Amino acid sequence: MSCIFCKIINQEIPSFKIYEDEYTYAFLDIAKDVDGHTLVIPKKHIENILDVDAETLEHLMNTIQKISKHYVENCGFEGVNILHASGSAAQQTVFHLHFHIIPRTSNDGVDAWPKFSGAKNELEKTFDLLKLE
Ligand code: 5GP
Ligand code: ZN
Repeated sequence: MSCIFCKIINQEIPSFKIYEDEYTYAFLDIAKDVDGHTLVIPKKHIENILDVDAETLEHLMNTIQKISKHYVENCGFEGVNILHASGSAAQQTVFHLHFHIIPRTSNDGVDAWPKFSGAKNELEKTFDLLKLE
C-alpha cells in the first residue's frame, strides 16, 4: 500500500501525533502554513467522504470535536475551521480521507473562507437540480 497516510499510521513515516484512538489518528500537517494545522484521519484506508461508512464518520467527528475543544480550552486558541476536500475536482491531493483542523485566534490574520467568483445559475434552477426528495 503506497498511501502516505497509511504509512504515517503504521509509523513507517514519522509524524507529530496529536491524538490516537482505536479508530482515528490526528497529526500536524507538514505544510507549516498555519500554527496548529492538524489532520484527522481514520485508521482504515477510506478514500473520502463519498465512501466512508457512518460509524467511521462518527468516530472521526468525535475526534475532531475532542481536539478542537482541547485547542480552545487548553492551548490558547479561540475557535477552529474544519476544512475538507473529496475528489480531485475538489482539490483533494491525498486520497486517504482526512479533515483539516485550522485553529484560530481572532487576530491571527488567517482568512479561511475563499472568495468564490459567483454562481452561474439562479437559485431556483440550482434547487431543482440538487434537491434530495
Ligand atoms: P488535501 O489537499 O488532500 O486536502 O490535504 C492533504 C494535506 O496533507 C496537505 O495539507 C499536505 O500538506 C498534507 N501532507 C501531505 N503529505 C504529508 C506528510 O507526509 N506528512 C504530513 N504530516 N502531512 C502531509
Ligand atoms: Zn491510506
